[in-house]
Amino acid sequence: MVGAGLVGLSLAWQLLLWGRSVQLIDPQLEQADPAHSGSAAALGVLMAQVFHRSSGRAWRLRQRSHQLWPLWLAALERRGRRLPRRQGLLQLASCQAELEHQQRLVAERQRRGIPLEHWGPDQLKRLQPALPAVALGGLHSPNDGQLDPGPVLQALWAEARASGLQASRDAVVQLERRGRDWQVHCRSGNRHSAAWLVVSAGVASGLLLENLGHLLPMEPVLGQALELELAAAPHWNWPGVCQWRGLNLVPRPDLPGGRRLWLGATLEPGSQASPGALADLRRWGDAASSPTTTPELGWLHQARLVRHWQGERCRPVGRPAPVLEQLEPGLLVVSGHYRNGVLLAPASAEWACAQIEAGR
Ligand SMILES: Cc1cc2nc3c(=O)[nH]c(=O)nc-3n(C[C@H](O)[C@H](O)[C@H](O)COP(=O)(O)OP(=O)(O)OC[C@H]3O[C@@H](n4cnc5c(N)ncnc54)[C@H](O)[C@@H]3O)c2cc1C
Repeated sequence: MVGAGLVGLSLAWQLLLWGRSVQLIDPQLEQADPAHSGSAAALGVLMAQVFHRSSGRAWRLRQRSHQLWPLWLAALERRGRRLPRRQGLLQLASCQAELEHQQRLVAERQRRGIPLEHWGPDQLKRLQPALPAVALGGLHSPNDGQLDPGPVLQALWAEARASGLQASRDAVVQLERRGRDWQVHCRSGNRHSAAWLVVSAGVASGLLLENLGHLLPMEPVLGQALELELAAAPHWNWPGVCQWRGLNLVPRPDLPGGRRLWLGATLEPGSQASPGALADLRRWGDAASSPTTTPELGWLHQARLVRHWQGERCRPVGRPAPVLEQLEPGLLVVSGHYRNGVLLAPASAEWACAQIEAGR
């Protein structure tokens, strides 16, 4: 397997549980802050039930992951690990069109028995700390939420190692077909052979597959995020993560001091971080047309910056995310999860395991 982000590690763990032997190769194994990685930078927001579609592959993958994550977390926690997570998501409506879209989605989901609900401005005003007063309403999804990807990555790594994972800290430079097997050439000069090859190397996936004749271009979309500490411990009564114009505020009372939150993430095509995008992120909650800070959000805008980080999402070019394909017998690509790789890791791993089991 090439690439040990959340998607690659999830699949490795599942294959080991099925009794397969797995060799995982990644130059950034066990690095605390891997450069360019999406998984180490992710906020871990899980948006399965608020998704704008109601059918098709993307919907099915989301619903499957929504079923699998609680089982996975329970299995990982049985070994005594604590995996921080929070239940619930509140998407605020910043304009009339967004409000109407939310109301249609709530009605459609309720017909299916999915408990989305609309929250009016009066309900929003009761929330502490205060949310943007200009919000026209909100969509509350009690069953979506967030998990902290860092501890989950560590738990998957530890479980996979304990189950016999063979791992090489190395970069793959070339893939080659040799008879019925695959040969993987690494920067160190080492080579590995296997009957199955899985490519989950983020943006590098497209480049590695190109020399096998498969054109699956992927492009980076950078995201910046912040950890902030509020001046005073708030009496949080939000129903989970709060989202405003696509940007998330994630309460993290579980972090040291009990008054931290995560804010993110920017959406910047390419690999270069823009100071302007970061400044917009810091003004979370301002109306699109207003350059001034919203007074009720003073608690947020005066918060102390604890940490600033960034990472790259991998977006497939000219095809929908994610890319889950068997390109040739024994060659799987499980990549291009763009903005939802944390959510979709379990369903993607399940898909890949099924391909490998069927092809044995
Ligand atoms: C700021 C930010 C916030 C996000 N928030 C969310 C969120 O709230 N919810 C959500 O679901 N998703 C979120 N995402 C998206 C999510 O992080 C990604 O979709 C997911 O992490 C993709 O996982 P991956 O394992 O495919 O890729 P990555 O985590 O990028 O891992 C790819 C791995 O491949 C390795 N690699 C690269 N080249 C080679 C090579 N030549 N040889 C071997 N290995 C190689 C890299 O070292 C890396 O470890 C966010 C992303 C960012 C950047």
